[in-house]
Amino acid sequence: MNSALARDKQAINLLNFDRKGLADFFIGIGEKPFRATQILKWVYQLQVYDFDLMTNLSKSLRTYLKENCTITPPSILLEQKASDGTRKWVLQMDCDNRVEMVFIPEQNRGTLCVSSQVGCALACTFCSTAQQGFNRNLTVAEIIGQVLVAQQQLGDQGKVTNVVMMGMGEPLLNFNNVVAAMNLMMDDFAYGLSKRRVTISTSGVVPAMYRLTEMSDVSLAVSLHAVNDELRNELVPINNKYPLQELLAACKDNVENSPRRKITFEYVMLAGVNDSMQDARNMIKLLKDIPSKINLIPFNPFPGTSYLCSSAEVIDGFRNILLGAGLVTTIRKTRGEDIDAACGQLVGKVIDKSRRHIKIQAQQGGMNHAV
Ligand code: SAH
Repeated sequence: MNSALARDKQAINLLNFDRKGLADFFIGIGEKPFRATQILKWVYQLQVYDFDLMTNLSKSLRTYLKENCTITPPSILLEQKASDGTRKWVLQMDCDNRVEMVFIPEQNRGTLCVSSQVGCALACTFCSTAQQGFNRNLTVAEIIGQVLVAQQQLGDQGKVTNVVMMGMGEPLLNFNNVVAAMNLMMDDFAYGLSKRRVTISTSGVVPAMYRLTEMSDVSLAVSLHAVNDELRNELVPINNKYPLQELLAACKDNVENSPRRKITFEYVMLAGVNDSMQDARNMIKLLKDIPSKINLIPFNPFPGTSYLCSSAEVIDGFRNILLGAGLVTTIRKTRGEDIDAACGQLVGKVIDKSRRHIKIQAQQGGMNHAV
């Protein structure tokens, strides 16, 4: 191995630290903690990664950083642009590990959908990422690096104004790294996004939801998808461990001390499975004590799935029942249809096809909702 490679292997990637972590790092090498804010500004506000260009650092510190540290975001393996402006990238993390991120431009905002893990361990039956199994947690650098890469790619053509942790993986099962990365997204010295513009989506890892409420005030979205335990056990198997009443208690705890806050409940519309008008009425009863917004998501099909998306009429009818009860309800617009923009789908295409084929067969065997 040549010396540059040997250095890179051991180099500390500064993208792995939030402000507190960086301050501790600088104290550890005998520097003042304010170096942390200087580095954050160079990296996240000015997109400067070259220590030589960081002119407000002493020469000796620059030399130290060059010899021991690096600022290395993930690299892009593949990019796709949809006709509606949606952009999707597959990022190469290390030899076998790839994740996706999606940028969705709208009139007044640009939302980046960020991944938290390579694959997912949770096995939700309607989710394409679940079919790929779980490989590993992403590091802080690999999570915040997605925002850096997206912003760099967008240049003057767009701005990341919102981040949703709704890409691949279950963010609350990679708790520390996700919280540190979200701290950077909200830190005024880094990205400075408001807490209303950073959303974490969870399938319902209840103990981690309580911890999150204690440690961070990011917005919370919960993947509900069913309004009774029997069906939710099947669609979102973590419900077997943390059933609806426990999930809803954790949701209540999240909003209790923040009077204006609402939880977003995501609900994928699966034809003949969870989309009856009785389901809508049961949802009203279930959520009556929780300040809620409902986001109905048309199911995004992928190869090998047996589910079908509910018809537009059924989705409208479902929404009207919720609206009639005063629940704020939106239907997620399908974006980037021509590029498989639902997370997990593109990586699914580039991973080893035979491995995937076997997994799909195994899953179909265990699925009750062939339609
Ligand atoms: N693990 C987290 C975040 C990942 S997915 C969670 O479960 O919330 C973000 C959202 O997309 C979740 O609500 C998820 O249930 C939904 N989703 C997954 N696959 C989908 C598909 N094929 N069509 C529509 N929505 C899907």
